[in-house]
Amino acid sequence: MTDFSTLNLSEPLLKAITSLGYKKASPVQAKAIPMVLTGRDVMVSAQTGTGKTAGYALPILQRLSEMKVLKNHPVRALILVPTRELAAQVGENISLYGQHLALKTAVAYGGVDMDPQIKALKNGVDILVATPGRLIDLLEKEHLSLSHLKILVLDEADRMLDLGFKRELDKILSDIPDKRQNLLFSATFTKDIKQLAHEYQRHPVKIEIESPNSAANTVKQSVYPVDQQSKPEILSYIIKGEKWEQVLVFVRTKKAADKVADLLSDEGICATSIHSDKSQYLRSKTLIEFQARAWDVLVATDVAARGLDINQLPLVVNYDLPKMPEDYVHRIGRTGRAGSPGRAISLMNPEEKPLLEKIRKLINKSLDVEPVPYFDNVSGHKEEAEPVKKEKPRRSATPDARSKKPGSDRRRTSSNGQKPAFGRKPGQQRKPAGASGPRQRRK
Ligand code: AMP
Repeated sequence: MTDFSTLNLSEPLLKAITSLGYKKASPVQAKAIPMVLTGRDVMVSAQTGTGKTAGYALPILQRLSEMKVLKNHPVRALILVPTRELAAQVGENISLYGQHLALKTAVAYGGVDMDPQIKALKNGVDILVATPGRLIDLLEKEHLSLSHLKILVLDEADRMLDLGFKRELDKILSDIPDKRQNLLFSATFTKDIKQLAHEYQRHPVKIEIESPNSAANTVKQSVYPVDQQSKPEILSYIIKGEKWEQVLVFVRTKKAADKVADLLSDEGICATSIHSDKSQYLRSKTLIEFQARAWDVLVATDVAARGLDINQLPLVVNYDLPKMPEDYVHRIGRTGRAGSPGRAISLMNPEEKPLLEKIRKLINKSLDVEPVPYFDNVSGHKEEAEPVKKEKPRRSATPDARSKKPGSDRRRTSSNGQKPAFGRKPGQQRKPAGASGPRQRRK
C-alpha cells in the first residue's frame, strides 16, 4: 500500500486526507494521482468502491490550486457523471478533499430546481460536477461558459454510453477548448470506451487497476432457478432466513422496484425502493436512511443504484437478471467491497437462461445453478439441476417437510419441527400492508 505522502500532494490536501481517516492510497490512487499531476491524458479502468474519485479529484485540486487564480472563478475543471447520485457524491467528496483550499466546487444535475445551480455558477465555480443533460441546459441558457476549461473528466464513461449520453457528450465536447487535460474513468474498457478515448484523448496513459470482472472472482455467487411468480416468496424467505440486513435488491424496471418493495413490506420486512421517478429529495433521504440501517432492504433499478456510495453490503440480490451482462458485474460489485467477502444471489426464471449465458460468457465463469437452500425446487429448470452441488444444510429438514409438494407452503421445517427461524427480528412488528416508512433506528 502506498503512503499518500509519497505522491507529491500538497500540504492542504494531505491534511484533508488525514482528517478523513484515509491511511494509505488505494491502488487506483497510487497509480492515477502521479499521472494526473503531470497534466497528461489518462484513461483508467476502475469500479466504484476503488477510491477512483480521489484518484482524480486530489490531483485536479492540486493542479488548479497551482494555476493562476482567475477573476470571477470561471469553470476550469468539469467532471461529467451519468447520474444525480454520483454527481452529489463526487461533489461532496471534492469539497471534503479541497476543504483547506480556496477553490469553489458546484454540482449541477437535473430533476431539481435550476436556480440554486445558476446562482452558484454566477458566484464563480472552479470545479463543476454535472450530468450531461443539465449541463447542456445551463450552457444553452448561457448560465455557464466553458471557455476557460483546463481539465475534463468523464467519470463512469461506460455508464454514460450505456445510458445513451453519447450525443450529449459530443455536443458538450465540441464546444470546449482543445488544449485541455482529458481523464476518462470506466469500469471496463469496452470497444466503445476505447473509441471514445480515441476521439477525445491524446495519447492517454492507460491504467488498469483490476480486471473488469474482478468482483466476479471475489464475491460468492449463487443462481437460484425459480418460477417468476415464486420470486417474491423466495426473496423474502432468503432475507428472513439469513436475517440479512442492508440487502440491495436489483430489478429491471421502476414499476418492479415499487412492487417488490411493497411485497416485502407486506411480509414484515423493512423495505423501500429507489428509482428515477422518485424525487431527488426522496432518493437522497432514502439512501441516508438505508445507510443508517433504518431499512433492511433497498430495491433499486440499475440506473438509480449506479454510483451509490454504500460500503460493504453483505448481500446483493438480482431479482431479475439484467438485460446487459455488464450490469451484472456492476450489481455484484456493490457487495464484498474493501476486501470483505460478498454474497450475490440471482433469482432466474426459465426465460432468463439466455441472460445467464451472456453473463457467464462475460465473466468467464460457469456460475452454477443451485437449488434454493431448504426450499423445494419450484423452477422446472431440469437440465440445470444435474451439475448442481447442494449446499450443506445448516438446518436439517424433517422427512415430512421434504415430502411436501410445491404448493402453499414450500418452506421446510427445522429439526425442532418448527418452521425455519426466518421470522422478524426481535421486536420487529409485521407491517400492515401498504404501510411505509423506515423502522426506528436500531442501537
Ligand atoms: P470511490 O470508489 O471513489 O467511490 O470511493 C469509495 C469509498 O472509499 C468512499 O467512501 C471514499 O471516501 C473511500 N476512500 C477513498 N479513498 C480511500 C482511502 N485511500 N482510504 C480509505 N477510504 C477511501
